[in-house]
Amino acid sequence: MEPQLNHREARALFFALADEELPEPQAKAVRTHLDGCDECRAGWDRYAKTVQRVRKVERETAPPMMASLVMNRVKRERRFGLRKLHLAHVYHRFPVEILIPLLLAAAVAAFLVMSAS
Ligand SMILES: [Zn+2]
Repeated sequence: MEPQLNHREARALFFALADEELPEPQAKAVRTHLDGCDECRAGWDRYAKTVQRVRKVERETAPPMMASLVMNRVKRERRFGLRKLHLAHVYHRFPVEILIPLLLAAAVAAFLVMSAS
């Protein structure tokens, strides 16, 4: 006996389904609804594509060079005895604290180069 979902309920579960966090009975109910509903299916396709794109960007926002700079910093701080450095914390804050200043610096540099010529 599967629960029957309406459009709104099915769409509310997209988020959990995309994260593969939905327990099987509900996941199956959403899929069943998608099978019978073109409208929600189109919405799900868009949603899943967006999620994939965001995840790809998340992976690519840590280029190898930047990652190794962070790792060097971590190693250095370890050598000085900061053993309680939270690696996960560093990585979590990486995009906001490092990437945005980098992008700003690149924008400023580009502006300076353009205005100098
Ligand atoms: Zn629907």
